[in-house]
This record gives sequence, C-alpha cells and structure tokens, in this order.
Amino acid sequence: MEIQITRTSAPKQKPADQTKLGFGNYYTDHMFIMNYDEGEGWHDARIVPYGPIPLDPAAMCLHYGQEVFEGLKAYKTPDGGIQLFRPDKNMARLNVSNERLCIPLVDEAFCVEAVKKLVEVDKDWIPDAPGTSLYIRPFIFAVDPHVGVHPAHHLLFVIILSPVGAYYPKGLNPVDIYVEQNYVRAVKGGMGFTKTAGNYAASLKAQDEAEKIGYTQVLWLDGVERKYIEEVGTMNVFFVIGDEVVTPALTGSILSGVTRMSVIDLLRSKGYKVSERRISVQELFDAHDNGTLKEAFGTGTAAVISPIGTFEWNGKKITVADGGIGQLSQMLYDTLTGIQFGKIPDEFGWTVRI
Ligand SMILES: *Cc1c(COP(=O)(O)O)cnc(C)c1O
Repeated sequence: MEIQITRTSAPKQKPADQTKLGFGNYYTDHMFIMNYDEGEGWHDARIVPYGPIPLDPAAMCLHYGQEVFEGLKAYKTPDGGIQLFRPDKNMARLNVSNERLCIPLVDEAFCVEAVKKLVEVDKDWIPDAPGTSLYIRPFIFAVDPHVGVHPAHHLLFVIILSPVGAYYPKGLNPVDIYVEQNYVRAVKGGMGFTKTAGNYAASLKAQDEAEKIGYTQVLWLDGVERKYIEEVGTMNVFFVIGDEVVTPALTGSILSGVTRMSVIDLLRSKGYKVSERRISVQELFDAHDNGTLKEAFGTGTAAVISPIGTFEWNGKKITVADGGIGQLSQMLYDTLTGIQFGKIPDEFGWTVRI
C-alpha cells in the first residue's frame, strides 16, 4: 500500500526548552491515518497535518471502548541518525490486542513502515538533549455510528508523535510502591495481556488513592487470590532474590512488555539465572525479612528501568536493600538506553535505523 503524504502549510513552533518537555505535552506537525471498512479492508494510508479527527457522537469507541494502542520511541544517535527499538515487537503485540478486541488485524511490516515514514516526515521534532526522545503512539478505534454492542465494521488506525523529556533528568530515582489489595487491574480471561484503553480506566482509582498517601505507583496482585504479583503500575516488575532474577510469568492478565523481554534476553546472555514464575507478595516480604531481597525494579518503554525503593503491604513497609539503586538495575538501564540511543553496539540486532 502506498502512503500519500500531505505536508502542513503551517508548521508549529517547536518547544524551545528540551529540558522541560515532560511526557505527552507536545505533538508534531503530522499524523498517520488509515481506514478500515468492512469489505475493503485497511485502505487509504496517508500522512496528513496533525489535527482533530471528526467523530460521530455515536462512534462505538466512545461508548464501548473498542480501542487498542501501542507505545514505542525513536531515538537520535550520536552520529545524527535516527533509530527505533524492536518496532516489530510492538506491531506483533498490536495484533495480539486486535485479536482479543475483535479488531481486524494489521499488516505488521507495513505498520513499521508507516512509523518510519511518519518519523522521517517529522524528524526535525526529535529532540537531542540527553535522555530525550520521540514517543510514538499508534492506536486503533471503532468509529461505526451505532449505539449497540457488537464488533465494529469501520475503524481508524492513527499514529501520533510526541517529543518527550528525559524520564530521569537527575539520574535513576527509586520509587515507593503501594501493594494494592482492594482494586484489581485484570483477571485471567479478561484483557490484561492487551494494550486497550479499558485496562487503564480500570487502574485510575487505585493509582489516584495511592498517590494521595504518598506512593508513586501500585503493585497489582492477581485478581482471584490477591496473592500473586502481576505488574507495577503500567510496568512489568522484576525482583532480585539471592542469585535469582524473578519476574511474574505471563499468565494472561499481564502485559508482555518489550522492555521485559529485552531485560530477560540481556540478563540470560550475561549468564544470570532468570525465572518467569509465580511469585507471591508473601515471598517478596519473606525475602526482605531473611535478607535475600537485593533489588526490585519496573520495566517499560517510558522509564526503561524504574528502581523500587520501598513496598507497603497490609500496613507493613519494607525497604529494598538500602533503598538505593541496585547494581543490576543500573547495569540494565545503562545497557538498554545505551543500545537505544546508539551509544553502545547492538549485539542483539534490536535497533532499526530510519
Ligand atoms: C506498555 C505496558 C508495559 C510495558 O511494555 P513495554 O513494551 O516494555 O513498554 C507493561 N505493563 C503495562 C500494563 C503496559 O501497558
């Protein structure tokens, strides 16, 4: 499929101070759109000036949440090049989400091409201050004007771009985590393994309450027994216990993070023992009490590695090791961001030049 390009005649002012970008505050001059109509399939791929999308008030996405999304980044390399990190994995996961949400599958390779084209058109928007990057948000939503619950026949696939700041302008910073016992994010058989809007709507209340009592994120437990650890906020979670690195196994209610799989591959390539298995919150607190809990960290595209300093569960608060940044957390952060920004060689073939 050809991608038609219509360039804006009114480019926007770019943010002046790259150290104050924050996350999701600015959008570039263009966006990618393609339509799905039953009988025609995906068609009319185009890059157009960024702007509002007309929607019928009865559009099904607004009523029943038939929507999926992805998140990845484009990075400026020291030689002035541009690269993506494992974009094929994002598009493969997009189709996993599509399948669960009764959304027609997309051509994964074509979607990676669409990302590359759009990033190229808006390449002047990629910031180059240390740690900054261009966040890429592909998403699909149902637009049939029909207030009735059934899979859509008409959808839009859109990609927007946002220059984002360094997640840790002053270096890695450990966060405080509240182990959530009242609310759950997802259950087996539900949609936890997909990136769909409803999962995030379901998480807002817990996040809001945790923030009010001074925590950065919540640790989600399984929705049935409320015993087993699933994820931390919108990140996957890892623990270093003794000489084992443990992360919850993907059981259906956990999102399969690209950062998670990269951390596992990287650690195994360096000879570490990594287990994907069930881990209860009791085991975590026991490991703290017997002195074997060495590190805990979250993983995700936005922060890459987010060290965890403390956990509170059932009125008991524990500090992970000395509450600082663990050795593995720092090594993983340096290695992954080094590969993503093209500062160290990519032995895994994870990066894609534009
Ligand atoms: C996106 C996301 C992650 C992290 O996935 P990455 O591909 O590493 O960015 C983890 N958990 C949830 C719930 C997510 O939405």
